[in-house]
Amino acid sequence: MNSKESLIAKDLQYIWHPCSQMKDYEELPPIMIDHAKGSYLYDIHGKRYIDIISSWWCNLLGHCNPHISDAIKKQLDKLEHVIFANFTHEGAVLLCERLMKHLPHGLTKFNFSDNGSASIECALKMSFQYQYQTGHPEKKHFMTLSDGYHGETVGALSVGGLDLYAEIYKPMLMDVIHVEAPNCYRCPYKKHRDSCSIECFEKVKKAFALYAEETCAFICEPLLQGSAGMRMYPPQYLRALRDLCTEYDVIMIADEIATGFGRTGTFFACNQASVAPDIMCLSKGLTGGYMPMALTITTPKIYDAFYADYLEGKAFMHSHTYSGNPLGCAAALAVLDVLENESIIEKAKEKAAYLHALLVDTLGTHPHVGEIRHLGMINAIELVADVQEKTPFDSKKRTGYQIYKKALSKGLLLRPLGDVLYFNPPLTISLEEIQEAVSICKEALLEILPE
Ligand SMILES: *Cc1c(COP(=O)(O)O)cnc(C)c1O
Repeated sequence: MNSKESLIAKDLQYIWHPCSQMKDYEELPPIMIDHAKGSYLYDIHGKRYIDIISSWWCNLLGHCNPHISDAIKKQLDKLEHVIFANFTHEGAVLLCERLMKHLPHGLTKFNFSDNGSASIECALKMSFQYQYQTGHPEKKHFMTLSDGYHGETVGALSVGGLDLYAEIYKPMLMDVIHVEAPNCYRCPYKKHRDSCSIECFEKVKKAFALYAEETCAFICEPLLQGSAGMRMYPPQYLRALRDLCTEYDVIMIADEIATGFGRTGTFFACNQASVAPDIMCLSKGLTGGYMPMALTITTPKIYDAFYADYLEGKAFMHSHTYSGNPLGCAAALAVLDVLENESIIEKAKEKAAYLHALLVDTLGTHPHVGEIRHLGMINAIELVADVQEKTPFDSKKRTGYQIYKKALSKGLLLRPLGDVLYFNPPLTISLEEIQEAVSICKEALLEILPE
């Protein structure tokens, strides 16, 4: 028998945890979670944590939702997996049909993979091959926004714009055209995102004028650059980008991996700009965080460019062993049941308004809170050394990380992005849980940064 303590020691002996400096674990060993329910995680000592970041943004409807769990259990005894080339199964077909009701118009062809980065790789290869097969082999570069995040496999990393993840690998990465992203909190034009005329879009126009001829696709995170620190930009920007892509025959790839399934207040972030991309990538909330699955969804126009006699060599020779996994499909269908039957996204709107007002009320006047921005249920609290000048803290101080540790000790999982604290809770969180989380957040903040 392994004692609980010895399990933690063995974790450190064997496991290389993601996106971590393992030396940090000497001081803060891994927290061993025993079980979870709704918005809470419970560790092996019975301590409870509010999961305000939805377990890396994927847990959409709370932990251990009985409807989703049951759907997976039922599927498990029927069909756990089958090769998805030449074979299919009911769940996959039903899932596409059900999703079509929510997707922007025109997205009707579904390619399955098993994680977000894989769905991005699929979108990149699909775009490249589409241009090649429709007489545009010169369109072979990708254009993207600075500070974007699309995952950490080599292609996905190439089209991202965060040095934190990419710097060391640059010699391995594709040559990509980076356009300066909107930076509304530190707007160079001194405008506000709710009332500006997207002055910064000029930069995209310039980049298209220079490079669109050699560009096969533009990839972006609609409205919310998540990993950049939950940066938010106005819908007009996305709308203008759609129009420019159409004008220059550049494929628009919308990475809705983090924003999909009601996170931003609408089913997809693209809805807020009335935008239909040419390719959309989904994962995270797709299965409510219960099974690893992702989708790359496109239009008949793109699909048709691959449709020919086999010997013409136009097929999309792209696959993953777990494509279309039946357990993932069962989870995703159950997520749609809950979202639709319980009007979750509608109900989350009121809670989102409450959460934002409470955060502004509780933390808004703190001398180091630069901005509290929000989109749907997502709220980001940007901490700065000087509010007037918007100067960041010295990154060596690891201010966000200190607050993270404090909050953990008090029962709140609030993993920040640098010095940006954020709330991205399950849409099912209750008002009482919101109050508890905000109050712990305030205590942790005040202990590290007294007023
Ligand atoms: C999480 C995320 C990805 C990568 O998904 P993984 O499943 O972690 O590979 C890509 N894009 C965005 C916007 C994400 O938030």
